[in-house]
Amino acid sequence: AAERRPLVAGNWKMNGLKASIGELDAVIAAASGVGRCDLMVCPPATLVAAFAARAAGTPVAIGGQDCHAEMSGAFTGDIAAEMLADAGATAVIVGHSERRTYHEESDAEVRAKALAAWRAGLTAIVCIGETKDERVAGKTLEVLGVQLAGSLPDGSTATNLVVAYEPVWAIGTGLTPTAADVAEAHGFIRDRLMARFGAEGEGVRVLYGGSVKPSNAAELMAVANVDGALVGGASLKATDFLGIAGAY
Ligand code: PEP
Repeated sequence: AAERRPLVAGNWKMNGLKASIGELDAVIAAASGVGRCDLMVCPPATLVAAFAARAAGTPVAIGGQDCHAEMSGAFTGDIAAEMLADAGATAVIVGHSERRTYHEESDAEVRAKALAAWRAGLTAIVCIGETKDERVAGKTLEVLGVQLAGSLPDGSTATNLVVAYEPVWAIGTGLTPTAADVAEAHGFIRDRLMARFGAEGEGVRVLYGGSVKPSNAAELMAVANVDGALVGGASLKATDFLGIAGAY
């Protein structure tokens, strides 16, 4: 089986001011002791450059939360993958459910953003996940299959792609799927990755996201094909984030 080093990535969403760099400092200070997993912090775009400068030469990577598909142009308010790379990011989240919902991003747009990430030399962290209605209707795997087929570009590899499975109903709600449900979803995602990308697909890290906290991180990490976590709310406090990372 492929060696997959776990990744614990924090998605700060629209939270954080310059003064929040103390939380990053606390993560950096503890990072070498965490050891077994890679650590990444994805602050709002306004903080990427400052955070990347602070994290340079440490084990903590910095990522963006979204990018535009184009390299430059008349797209007021948008940010190109090249700009994130220029600011020191090494990865970018694309297709987060909040982007898919509030900005109506389609699988095709998410795929274009992942390609933009690669063009800029960034790893694309592609998010997928079913809604509560879709789960109740028994359509979870069908939905994940459609999102994977539409959102992942050809040419995905173990290093240019990370997939985050985030059930929409578990994000920010305190609810999590059972270990069996997580195992089923991650096993399905792994099968699809290997069917399409072969050995590279076996090496792609598949993160679980949705109400991960220090108290449930170990149970989630013990599930087959869970290669780390994408953490929202609990990533804002270094102590919680490090508590999660300690389980991986
Ligand atoms: C997320 O938005 O990526 C997420 C997992 O959020 P939370 O951990 O707050 O549920």
